[in-house]
Amino acid sequence: MFNKPRHVRVLVIGAGFAGLGTSIALQRAGVDHVVLERADDVGGTWRDNHYPGCKCDVPSHLYSFSFALNPDWTETYSSQPEIWAYLRRCAERFGILARIHFGTEVGDSCWDARAQRWRVETSAGAWTADVVVMATGGLSVPSVPDLPGLGRFAGAVFHSAAWNDAHTLDGERVAVIGTGASAVQLVPRIQPRAGRLLVFQRTPAWVMPHGDRPIRDWERALFRRVPLAQRLLRSNIYWTRELVVLGLCKDRRFMEPIRWLATRHLERQVPDPDLRERLRPTFSPGCKRLLVSNDYYPALSADNVDVITDPIAGVGERSITTAEGAEHAVDTIVLATGFRVTDNPGFERLRGRDGRSLAETWRDAGMQAYKGTTVAGFPNLFLVTGPNTGIGHTSLVYMIEAQIRYVLDALRTMDRRGVAEVEVRPDALEAFNDGLQRRMRRTVWNAGGCASWYLDSRGRNTTLWPDFTWQFRRLTRRFDARAYELRRPVASA
Ligand code: NAP
Repeated sequence: MFNKPRHVRVLVIGAGFAGLGTSIALQRAGVDHVVLERADDVGGTWRDNHYPGCKCDVPSHLYSFSFALNPDWTETYSSQPEIWAYLRRCAERFGILARIHFGTEVGDSCWDARAQRWRVETSAGAWTADVVVMATGGLSVPSVPDLPGLGRFAGAVFHSAAWNDAHTLDGERVAVIGTGASAVQLVPRIQPRAGRLLVFQRTPAWVMPHGDRPIRDWERALFRRVPLAQRLLRSNIYWTRELVVLGLCKDRRFMEPIRWLATRHLERQVPDPDLRERLRPTFSPGCKRLLVSNDYYPALSADNVDVITDPIAGVGERSITTAEGAEHAVDTIVLATGFRVTDNPGFERLRGRDGRSLAETWRDAGMQAYKGTTVAGFPNLFLVTGPNTGIGHTSLVYMIEAQIRYVLDALRTMDRRGVAEVEVRPDALEAFNDGLQRRMRRTVWNAGGCASWYLDSRGRNTTLWPDFTWQFRRLTRRFDARAYELRRPVASA
């Protein structure tokens, strides 16, 4: 027997920063909504990533919702447990926990043109919704490299985003594959525990000195008593970080101080000249995410660590073999190999007006959305953390809040004008993306001489915002109905 789908005005997918922020905004606006979350807790990437040393490399005072500053951060750069706890507190404080359906995996979803609503299949029954907000985040599906023999490896294998807490690594021969933002944090933590640590590096990254320190008791007391003090500090951090956009997006010469600082860091921290050369990047700083760490280079210089730059040829039952034929015995493999950002499998499950999935829609042109949020052919669908809304130099929460405000204004516009559907016009989407990709050409991500997850398989940068973040906020300030087809309810049309 079929149960009738439950109906809701807005259905939000995901309960990470983006989904929680959306739900809080909807709650405050009195909008009927639910949040569907596949896991059994809130937190998204900050719930899933709990590898040793997992922290945020954006300062704590900036990395939070603007409407829920936390005076109690204990370090200037927060660790994963504190951020996760913060998100749980926010969900409780703003009374949205009852809105969240945990353990509910979203399956196929399609736009029902006749009913003018979305039909969303889930592991816990079907829903219909007037509007869907996809808030699944870019870093939600781990990328597992296609290494020959990996499936036959007899030891333990786990991804940094699915850390096996029960596995201590004590005294083991551990291989870490990847040297990005996750590896740089976990390598120093597992190096003292491992018997031998092999770090397989394909491309060395630029690593900057870290300014992390504990926040003193008196500072916390000040932020509690004088919230304005924390707000001023936050604003100061925001504007200082925005200066980096000059180097990332406007003129690469502005990155030269960063090159100088990171080069000095490398030379001071790595005494072995051979290792130092293997760790020296050849691309422009900022092309891949800039990393910060004071203990990564010292860990790589430790006696029990080998940095292997020869490419991996294959994995045996208990070993990794490189292209030159060297076979390295290993007990455990840690994959610090990043996420499926531009080919997220969730894109295949969402079908628009003509029955095509988001993945099919984006197959040739790559991911693209109007103002990072709406897609032609997908009425009443909003992507929070959609295409080209990523940033590396500042807090993603800033971009998330800008998009949420846009979604809320869209809902208000729909109510005010009595429309059942909003769908971005293809010409508006195209013009927006042409302008964006034109600006993208001169950014360090596209022209800096590196490959990264910012670029898709065709070399198009469909992930990052190529300008100041306040420009994005300005663009998304109001729902610009002129860029949309607005359709009245069919019954009253
Ligand atoms: P990542 O930056 O994508 O790095 C993946 C690493 O794995 C790279 O070094 C890559 O080498 C390597 N790799 C991938 N496939 C490989 C293969 N087949 N063989 C050998 N090496 C391979 O992933 P991540 O470190 O997890 O970071 C992803 C993103 O998460 C970051 O950019 C950042 O946005 C976010 N993050 C943020 C923080 C934070 O503090 N806020 C911390 C961790 C992560 P190549 O460089 O040669 O491709």
